[in-house]
Amino acid sequence: MSSTEVSGDGNTELIEVWRGNGELEAQLIRSVLEYNGIECMLKGEALRLIYGITVNGLGEVKILVRAEDAERARKLLAASENMVECPNCGKPIQTEDRVCPSCRARFKK
Ligand SMILES: [Zn+2]
Repeated sequence: MSSTEVSGDGNTELIEVWRGNGELEAQLIRSVLEYNGIECMLKGEALRLIYGITVNGLGEVKILVRAEDAERARKLLAASENMVECPNCGKPIQTEDRVCPSCRARFKK
């Protein structure tokens, strides 16, 4: 879960901090990181779906952050106390959410 990847865009080294299946889950992780001021990039087969209609797509998605943010990002992800497992599908969801972004199950806090 912590392999290192270097992007080809020149001077910015990007580190993979998360990997999973499904762009909806990845978007959730991204929102956590961006909320904490960490710019990140999603990469994966299903990337084209991210900005399109919400599709319950599968496919491996990686989240990359700048090398200088990687440690903080990993800590944030490890300590995502505001995320819980969906009782229906087991994917991480934020406690503020009332609807699981992965399976659309509704639940109460
Ligand atoms: Zn779910």
